[in-house]
Amino acid sequence: MSLYVDQLLKQQDAMTTMLRDMVEMESPSDDKQALYRLTRYMADRFSQIGAAVEFVQPDAGDHLRASWGSGDEQVLVLCHLDTVWPAGELSRRPFRVEGGRAYGPGVYDMKGGVVQAFFALKAIIELSIRPDRKIVFLCNTDEETGSLSSRALIEQEALRSRFVLVPEPASGANGAVKLTRKGWGIYHLTVTGRTAHAGSDHEKGISAVTELAYQILKLQALTDYSTGTTINVGVISGGTVFNVVPDKAEARIDLRAASHDELQKTQQAILGLASVTQGAILKVTGRINRPPLEATDRNMQLYRRAKQIAADLGIELPGVHVGSVSDGNFTSSVGAVTLDGIGAVGDGAHAVHEYLELKAMAPRAALFARLLAEL
Ligand SMILES: [Zn+2]
Repeated sequence: MSLYVDQLLKQQDAMTTMLRDMVEMESPSDDKQALYRLTRYMADRFSQIGAAVEFVQPDAGDHLRASWGSGDEQVLVLCHLDTVWPAGELSRRPFRVEGGRAYGPGVYDMKGGVVQAFFALKAIIELSIRPDRKIVFLCNTDEETGSLSSRALIEQEALRSRFVLVPEPASGANGAVKLTRKGWGIYHLTVTGRTAHAGSDHEKGISAVTELAYQILKLQALTDYSTGTTINVGVISGGTVFNVVPDKAEARIDLRAASHDELQKTQQAILGLASVTQGAILKVTGRINRPPLEATDRNMQLYRRAKQIAADLGIELPGVHVGSVSDGNFTSSVGAVTLDGIGAVGDGAHAVHEYLELKAMAPRAALFARLLAEL
């Protein structure tokens, strides 16, 4: 057994306790008070193991930076502390351990990964391993809503780092890392028509709802599974009552694409939508939120090295391609070498069946420690 695995197996209970603490501190992206509590908790934990902590942009969401060690080079560990779950979700799904799995809001995305990464650093310190590089953890609190206030900070730290590890949830039962992630765009379409009496003046009205229906079909037609480009019209609304020709309708649109070119091209098509119904007026707003994380040569080189280290620990570490995004999209697209999805094993991110495999925690934390120390 590896030194690291031995060390981390001894920490299993401590890891579960920290995970429970973190899950029980609910942290919706828009709840500043709750986030404040969790970032303080994390700052205390980092301070206890001797890391230097600093709060960044406190008015924007209290992002936490913790650094340990010295050296000219730095390695960046990118974590988000927020979850998609609203306050009160915990009372519906309290933290619990059952059949070797931990359950609770955010347990897999990504509080479990944060715990593993934290204990990886702790193990390095306790084993008196002194990597010749600085290890920097950046914990932001707005990832689930687009990292609007932390993006600049993330990109800046990434550009300073030799490589970036993102302990976001791994994929599938064998804990695959995420070799590519699609880029993401978010748009809002509003249609304006003209009201009329549905009985006496039908022909004088311009139905915004009908026009929206045409646009939805045009939008859905932009989906192309062969290139991986998808459009989801996820929310629509329109009209007031059934006997008035509706003058307002709107839609919220999600775009995913695997390459910069596809993302740009499809965005052009969305922003350039033209009305079908005479007199209907369309307005489209929105933009690309995250560029794709692409399998660049340097990212793949990092992955292959990680895979070797994993094999040494008896971990297979396959790689997959996914449509979901993370802050790894930002770090990779500014040119920082990035390995994403190296966190918790489990399932159900953003879903009520969310869980984490407890037995995978120690080996994954051991792998993380070796990546921090040896890559
Ligand atoms: Zn996440």
